[in-house]
Amino acid sequence: MAGEPQADCLFCKIVAGEVPATVVRDTETVLAFRDINPQAPTHVLVIPKAHYRDAAALAAGAPDLAADVLREAGEIAAQEKTVERGYRIVFNTGAGAGQTVFHAHAHVLGGRGLEWPPG
Ligand code: 5GP
Repeated sequence: MAGEPQADCLFCKIVAGEVPATVVRDTETVLAFRDINPQAPTHVLVIPKAHYRDAAALAAGAPDLAADVLREAGEIAAQEKTVERGYRIVFNTGAGAGQTVFHAHAHVLGGRGLEWPPG
């Protein structure tokens, strides 16, 4: 069920402390940790602690929680000092767009020039 922990979900396991991660922010509702395969000097994943399969399901099912994720993404950009140079918040949504972990997450990418359009 949306919002409930999923036994087979990697990010639910990180929230539960069953899989280690390098945590950079931890609030009541949101966890942020460094991506294991960084694509930029700053590459942090920001996730709701509750399980939603993607950003659209999160926004539809728990809009306040979606706002928490976005606010934390901005806080991380400031914490990582990427704001002046610009940074990107990305929600890959669906396998065709590159989503590989089906627990909603924002990628916060910064610390280098970022091209547009993305690949
Ligand atoms: P997606 O491809 O779903 O948008 O993003 C999933 C991200 O999770 C990828 O960038 C991938 O590198 C990252 N990732 C996959 N497994 C792990 C892990 O065990 N720990 C961490 N910290 N990141 C992971």
